[in-house]
Amino acid sequence: MDHLPIPVDRQRPSRRVVGFAYFDIPFLGEVGEAGDDFYTYAVAHKIVNNDSDHSLNLDELEELDDVNLYFARVQAWLYFGLICDTFGSSVNLEDFIVVNASTEERVINSAELKGLMAEWRSRVSKLSKRARTADVERIKQSTTAGWRFCDRADHYGVSLTEQHMLVLSSIRILISSIWGMLWASDVGAGNLNEDCRLSIDVIKWPRLPASYRPLAVLMAEYGWCPHEILRLLGTYHLTTVWTMTCLLRRTPAQLDHERCAGAIKCIARDVDPLEHQGKHATNDCNCEAVGPDIEQVKTILRGGGTPLIRCKISKDGRPSFRVIRAKGVKRHIAFSHVWADGIVIPQQNKIFRCQFLKLASYLEKARVEVQAERLFGFLSIAPFLARHVFKGPKSFDIWLDIFCIPSILHADSQELRKQAIARIYSVFAGAEAVLIVDKSLTDVTDGDMPTTEVMARVASSGWMTRCWTFSEMSLAHTSVALFCVGDRIIPYEDFKEYNKAFKRLDVPSQSLFRNLRDSAFITFNIAWIASQAVVSEYVAFALVWNSLSARSTSWPEDVWGIMATLLGYSGKEIMTLQARDRLPAMMKELPSIPASFFFRDLPRSASGPAQMRWIPTRVQGILRDADGTFAFIDGGILFPRTLNLKFLMSVTTTVPPSFSFEFHHEDLSARPDLLRVMFQISLHDHEAVLQHAGSDAQVCILLPRNESQSGDSETAYISGIGCALLVTTIRADSTVEAEFLSSLSYRFGTEKQGHHLQASLAGPNVILRCDRQQWYQPKLRRKKHTLAPSTFSRILYFGVPAVLVFIMATTMVPLWIWYSVTHQPLRVQAILVLATCGFALFIVAVMMVVIFHENFLFRNWVDSFDEGHPKRWWKKIMPLW
Ligand SMILES: [Zn+2]
Ligand SMILES: [Zn+2]
Repeated sequence: MDHLPIPVDRQRPSRRVVGFAYFDIPFLGEVGEAGDDFYTYAVAHKIVNNDSDHSLNLDELEELDDVNLYFARVQAWLYFGLICDTFGSSVNLEDFIVVNASTEERVINSAELKGLMAEWRSRVSKLSKRARTADVERIKQSTTAGWRFCDRADHYGVSLTEQHMLVLSSIRILISSIWGMLWASDVGAGNLNEDCRLSIDVIKWPRLPASYRPLAVLMAEYGWCPHEILRLLGTYHLTTVWTMTCLLRRTPAQLDHERCAGAIKCIARDVDPLEHQGKHATNDCNCEAVGPDIEQVKTILRGGGTPLIRCKISKDGRPSFRVIRAKGVKRHIAFSHVWADGIVIPQQNKIFRCQFLKLASYLEKARVEVQAERLFGFLSIAPFLARHVFKGPKSFDIWLDIFCIPSILHADSQELRKQAIARIYSVFAGAEAVLIVDKSLTDVTDGDMPTTEVMARVASSGWMTRCWTFSEMSLAHTSVALFCVGDRIIPYEDFKEYNKAFKRLDVPSQSLFRNLRDSAFITFNIAWIASQAVVSEYVAFALVWNSLSARSTSWPEDVWGIMATLLGYSGKEIMTLQARDRLPAMMKELPSIPASFFFRDLPRSASGPAQMRWIPTRVQGILRDADGTFAFIDGGILFPRTLNLKFLMSVTTTVPPSFSFEFHHEDLSARPDLLRVMFQISLHDHEAVLQHAGSDAQVCILLPRNESQSGDSETAYISGIGCALLVTTIRADSTVEAEFLSSLSYRFGTEKQGHHLQASLAGPNVILRCDRQQWYQPKLRRKKHTLAPSTFSRILYFGVPAVLVFIMATTMVPLWIWYSVTHQPLRVQAILVLATCGFALFIVAVMMVVIFHENFLFRNWVDSFDEGHPKRWWKKIMPLW
């Protein structure tokens, strides 16, 4: 793993971790002889069968005398063999084997890969398109075969030693790096790291697949929360997770993840505002708490306004605060932070002076960025002007939640609090700048950390795991977003690609950069994307759902309001509904339903009406594209015929929580091994099944195996999640009508359980009864807006006047030359002066209209988040600046 972008002084285990010792990859003694073909070695040593598709010979793995020799050969084939296959057989494999000075063992050092990848990239860029495609195809095939081998070793339940797990893990990381190289080199290989990812829905902590165990054990050793480990593995490339793991001093030590064990997400950062204690910036400080007059804040909230705090620091370091009412947009700086970091004192609406001075120091640093942006930040002279000429005002208008939302301890504050919270959306949408403060970032001491490392730290920070900070950042789409890292501030702009710094990175770092950009940061465009007409309802829904389901909040109810707002509904209206009706209201206009809703272990309401029992009651679980969608038809939701594992079985006694079933099917006679197929089932919500299925029922079991999609590529259907339905009617054309019972885990296997059932294939269509007409129809919905991306508005700002200036120059300059060389009467001169001035005025007018129009659209967008206070059109226009 030495080729991956990790700091030189990376975090290393300071002691032996279980059997994994110091996480050095052992060299098991075989490098393999170079064959013509990737498979020659594997066939010769019976790791794969000698058939056309080189199927894996797993029997060999199960009845093995010398496991060490077997894994030495696996390493020779899939580590060294893959390196030769990818980079050419001229690679000197001895360069990869070093002796660990302290233990005198031979271990693998992969630093050499960095150079090989750079060479490979420059070599293929010179190849013809055809030769390049062939090369890439070959690499894709052999690496995928290697990945599949690890999958099989993981899911066939072979028990492995820690050393062998490390070997498999190093193979996965090698393959993930090669895929990252293909992806970062733009050779048309797609992103295989996305297609082959750990299915975190299927596995349960701590029973992780063997090849992921070393990494997970190391992360747990460093104090990561199990939920976080799974979330990161399910979100990022394996190589990215490894880099994050190795970052120094990543987590604040005070978090207690013990209580997360029984929860579905990490709840260590959920705080109880009544219990939560503020902290000083340093342990030995005992300064006083400071804050604005909260009564004035309440007065402004009562008047329907948004309070801001104008703050100033005197020369002797005393902050002063004045509460003002927000006027217009793009005038204030908002803070986005995590309460668990202890900056705030919730009971008092105050923070300690030392903490505030720290925030103020970031404000001071943000001044240049903000001023530069005001002076058209994309002009290269703007930062210079901002630093030396137009330094801006001495005070700052800020929005900080602890100052602007009255604490729940105030008897009269319930209603005002609701109002203040609803106002958060427009505060962030209309902010001039947003400062992101997270303890793991502000504690950084390294002054010039590379951008990739800053990105990795942000992506793995606590700030990234909260629902509110997510909505704040995605609303701040047109604001200057600044991350407070150590004693610097780093603009979000730096995380976008194609700047000079990116081109200088080595191949693994570029792959890391892109992965973080795509999986961590692009999701912040959601508020903007979801409100664009070009994005389908379904895509917007899935994006918002996935972003929120991966995050948590101290007030779980809030998530529905956030979701509604991001999707363009009225958060206020959705929150007035019963908890059970909120999600259906937001799904009313969806053309189809994500299949993942049925094939996940989600919290559902078993007591609800039969037609609504399948609907999740919490935002949980990732909606995966591979699962597909189910369409609404008359009478319900259609589980189409392409979903081909549908079984019917009659239950005569009460259904136990787990059972097995088998079925015989003649159509499968082409695969004699599948003539008699058996599955082990365990129901997720046994209570619901008992409650609704009774003791004499017909049950339909659906397993999400789909002809057109790969589905769960990792477990290759050896195991997975399906669902059980209660059959109500079987129509004459054998279409099954059913109601939802529970999701279930299945495992392909040959063992009969105590409760064993015979099943038949159901089909071809199953309809889940559901009447969408009865769902609540939201009354308010924001219009899809036409706010352009900021790059586009900049073109407009300068492109339009530039064209006009060009036209003016090409017409007026020749006319003036004509006038000066010929002798015209004075009258002509007057006409020319008038025409020139008129043209110039026209350009200024056009410029004003462009800016006015842009400002008007933006103002509309910000106002659309502020429900209940519709502004008159003249109010939108008047305070233009
Ligand atoms: Zn936790
Ligand atoms: Zn203090």
